[in-house]
Parts: sequence; C-alpha cells; structure tokens
Amino acid sequence: MSALDIEVNARQDRTGDDRLSGILAAPGFGTHFTDHMLTAEWTPEQGWHGARVTAYGPLTLDPATAVLHYAQEIFEGLKAYRHADGSVWTFRPEANAARLARSARRLALPELPVEDFLATVDTLVQVDERWVPDPQGEKSLYLRPFMFASESFLGVRPAKHVTYMVIASPAGAYFAHGIKPVSILVSEHFTRAAAGGMGAAKTGGNYASSLAPQQEAIHRGFDQVVFLDAIERRHVEELGGMNLYFVFDDGSIVTPELTGTILEGVTRSSIIELAGSLGHKVEERRFTIDEWRDGVGSGRLTEVFACGTAAVVTPVGRLAWRDGEVDCAPGGAAGPVTQQVRQALVDIQYGRAEDTFGWLHRVV
Ligand SMILES: *Cc1c(COP(=O)(O)O)cnc(C)c1O
Repeated sequence: MSALDIEVNARQDRTGDDRLSGILAAPGFGTHFTDHMLTAEWTPEQGWHGARVTAYGPLTLDPATAVLHYAQEIFEGLKAYRHADGSVWTFRPEANAARLARSARRLALPELPVEDFLATVDTLVQVDERWVPDPQGEKSLYLRPFMFASESFLGVRPAKHVTYMVIASPAGAYFAHGIKPVSILVSEHFTRAAAGGMGAAKTGGNYASSLAPQQEAIHRGFDQVVFLDAIERRHVEELGGMNLYFVFDDGSIVTPELTGTILEGVTRSSIIELAGSLGHKVEERRFTIDEWRDGVGSGRLTEVFACGTAAVVTPVGRLAWRDGEVDCAPGGAAGPVTQQVRQALVDIQYGRAEDTFGWLHRVV
C-alpha cells in the first residue's frame, strides 16, 4: 500500500473524443500530453506530501528555482501498453522505481518509496486511461516521472523543497516506416561519464552533455553517437540514451558490463534474461571499439543493436570512427537475432506471449 494520499481533481474540460482519436491515430513522440498531471512535494519537515492529480498545464517557477541553476534533477521513462482485451499494463515499473531511488541518492534528492512511485504512475494512467492507444502499430502511453529541486535559493546545497511529477504522452511506433538500422559515429573527443560521475544516474545533466556530440554526429550525416570510456577511450559504453548489444556468429551475445558509467537500462536487463531463455549465451563484459571494428571485418560479429524503452530494440548499421567505417547491417535490415529479441520483448509487453518472468503490472 502507498503511504502517499493522492487527491484526484479531474478536469471537466477533457480533450474531446474526436480530437483525441485524431491524436492517437498518429501520436508521434513527446509532443502531445494527456489531460492531467501528477504532482507531489517534499520538504525535510513533512517528507512527501500534497500528492495530487490536476489538469495538465504550465508551472510557475521563481527565477531562482535551484534546478534552473544547478541541474538537481532526475527522471524515468516507462510505458503503459493496452492489451487486446482492453486491459492496461506497465512493464517492470518496480525497476524504474528502484532506479529513480538510486538516481535520487546520487543527486542528493529525497527517495520516493517504491510503492509511492507505483501508486502515482498507476493513478495518472487510470485517470487518463482513454489516452492509452490501441496496441495496433506498437502504440503506447509513454510515462515520464521526474523530480527536481524546486526551492528558490541560489546557494549550492541539496534543495529543501523538491517537486516530483508524472506526465504522460501517447507514443507511436518509433519507426514509422519500418525498422531501419541507425548509423553511428564514435565520439572521439567527448565522453559521456567518468568513474565517480553521474553516468549511472538518469539525470538531465547527462543528456545536456550529450547534445554537442550528438549535434556533431548529425552534422556529419549520422543518426547517433557512441561514447567510449573516459580513461582509455577504447571501451564501448552506450549511445546517449540507449544501451548496446553485440551478436556473434555462434549466437552468443555481449553487452558492456556496468562499471558505474553506464545507465542500467530496464530494457538492457530484460534482454539479458530474455535472450538467455531463447538459448543465447549472454555475457556482460568490457567490449572495445577494436573488437567491434575487427569483428565486423572478420564476419564474427554479425549483428549490433541498441535498446531502450522508447525505441525498444534498434538495429545498428554503419559505425564510423576517425579513419574508417564498417557496416554492421549491410542488408539495411535488422538481423535475425535482433528481430527475435525485439519480437519476444514486444510480445510480452503487449500480452501476446506469456509473461513467464512476471514483468507486467496491471493498471486497468
Ligand atoms: C533511459 C536510458 C537508457 C535506457 O534505459 P531503459 O530503462 O531501457 O529505457 C539508456 N541509456 C541512458 C543514458 C538512459 O538515460
């Protein structure tokens, strides 16, 4: 049971049925938001309190609000899926709750108990249930819980007023025109995270630092940038917002091990279990950019894919570095293992395959 008492103030002027079905027909990603949002506050004296669902709308912030200056902020991303029988489920929300708590510890923010996280997410999805799209075309309702320093104070210390919110946004299939491999540029100059830094926390600061390298990749005609470790500049870490997997010709799979500088994706950990159950040998270990390049060259490395909640599983095609380039998906399509893992995962999420791992959480 949740300790937080959540007050629901449903609005009277909800989005009309016609407009809503127009949005759900082609939701895109992150542009439309549901009718409501959830807010809760924290102070050292009161702990978490004031949880409420209200009409979605802008916040009013004092210009001295701490997050605007020192980036004390963390967030989560998960999805609600509608099954064929109309029921609505989230995927491993306890894992997101636990990660939010780990991120909170790193950013000196207060922890939100797991049961409160679940209650807040469930409540918003229940209030805005009509915004959960039908499952056709891999649509879902993307959920964005986040927490930030909302105290008005320019001194540098953990804020004594913190705000937690959940907003929701209908999402279409990430790949509107079929699954196409992404091209990747190795970031030679920039790194994403160093040992002891914030790499394992899901915080806006990591995204801010990834924008300039990402922009460089786009300018040079690539979709994404891959970051290497900050010390030796050899070990593959991850993309700006997705973890990586490497598939070998014997069916074995490697993903970079968690060394404190990689974000522990829920999709990443799920694939470790799922691929194992599909008969693949899965290894978590350090993996160098040379192994990637040479593996594609020798033909031993047959597939590369990236994974995360938003895009699920995405094949990786071209990989370019300072003085060379290889193509990990020369046919321009996802390889068989990439497709198998992707299909197995989305079939569980949409209730089309038995949830033998107990990953689904019923909301409606
Ligand atoms: C959120 C995120 C991921 C993917 O995590 P999922 O839980 O699988 O969505 C990977 N890398 C970074 C940097 C992230 O912020």
